[in-house]
Amino acid sequence: MAPLTFEEARERVVSTVRASRAACAVEEVPLESAAGRVLAENVAADRDVPALPRSVRDGYAVRAAELPGELRVTGEVRAGERFAGEVGPGEAVEIMTGAPMPAGADAVVMVEHTLRAGGRVRIGRTAEPGQFINRRGCEAAAGEVVLRAGARLDYSGVAALAAFGRESVRVFRKPVAAIVATGDEIVEAGRTPEEFQIRNSNSYSLAAQAARAGGAPLVLPVARDNGEDARRIVERGLSADLLLLSGGVSAGKYDIVERTLAGLGAEFYFDRVLIQPGQPLVFGRARGKFFFGLPGNPASTMVTFELFARAALELLGGQEETVLHMPYARLTGAFRHRAGIARFLPARLGAGGAEVTPLTWSGSGDIPALTRANAYLAAEAGRAEYAGGDLIRVLLK
Ligand code: AMP
Ligand code: MG
Repeated sequence: MAPLTFEEARERVVSTVRASRAACAVEEVPLESAAGRVLAENVAADRDVPALPRSVRDGYAVRAAELPGELRVTGEVRAGERFAGEVGPGEAVEIMTGAPMPAGADAVVMVEHTLRAGGRVRIGRTAEPGQFINRRGCEAAAGEVVLRAGARLDYSGVAALAAFGRESVRVFRKPVAAIVATGDEIVEAGRTPEEFQIRNSNSYSLAAQAARAGGAPLVLPVARDNGEDARRIVERGLSADLLLLSGGVSAGKYDIVERTLAGLGAEFYFDRVLIQPGQPLVFGRARGKFFFGLPGNPASTMVTFELFARAALELLGGQEETVLHMPYARLTGAFRHRAGIARFLPARLGAGGAEVTPLTWSGSGDIPALTRANAYLAAEAGRAEYAGGDLIRVLLK
């Protein structure tokens, strides 16, 4: 199979999963556990928001046409109250932020622009009708859909649910991501490895990443680099919604992932992407389920999950959209790489988030270097040289 560029591979994942995902099961969750979940229903405002015209400043409710001028203050209205009377000609009512507008007034003048003397207030400037007033329903009209099915609820989403009086909400069931590490050299994290062995860290990073992407991780035992063992565990993994394998995808004699999946009748969409870390990278479908064969080096596993598998998991979880956030930052120094391959290298964004510095590391096995990173520098395949101060994209970690 011809290798794909980063952009082609990502597009392939998104379009393939979007085209053939099954309908997700739905469950009802209480508001308190709704954040991070994907809405399975449209959510509408239950009344006009705001329900009355409201002041957005502390000041005086006035009739705009009467300004500038001196007005008689006939009362006060605070948030949580309603002013019983009306603002008549030559009158003003003292008003607090969030309080409903009294009848008769059509503008609010900020307290800073007024001079109060006893029962009267002097206002030296003109006012526009409607100024500093949120009119009734300006945020949403009663019945207006504010959140759509397929949106992932963030903290503003749960705020909207609460504001509309929702104590529970229908969301899609979390997609199960089966996680299978492969390799004869891999031992479980709780064991003491021989010097030639390596503890399984990929199952843990993948479980954390899958959970963050809205999935329910299901960590299966490590598959050994022999056909029988791998086949048995991979078959178990294909009962989940998505199968994530790590290791065993290079062209080596013991790289069994592709062979095992081919033996299960898999269809392959790509098996190499022009990125580093992570060149050998398999995406396909078997027994109706999508799978990724991610390269085994820890950084490769982590980066390829973020770039590709995350999108698949989000879409399988019912999300309408999947976005890879890759903002620009300024390089603190010159940077060069060999063009032809897109690189995602551990980096640190400065406190302001506008400047980025690549970190030194000893390659894609270097977990300690990754723990020091808060982002990946994304060097474009088509550009070899960057000067200090140049803009470069970063993938937030
Ligand atoms: P592979 O992609 O199978 O050739 O694996 C490449 C390298 O990644 C191995 O030599 C290990 O050093 C490392 N590796 C593979 N699987 C894991 C794992 N589950 N946890 C930590 N490191 C791994
Ligand atoms: Mg291996």
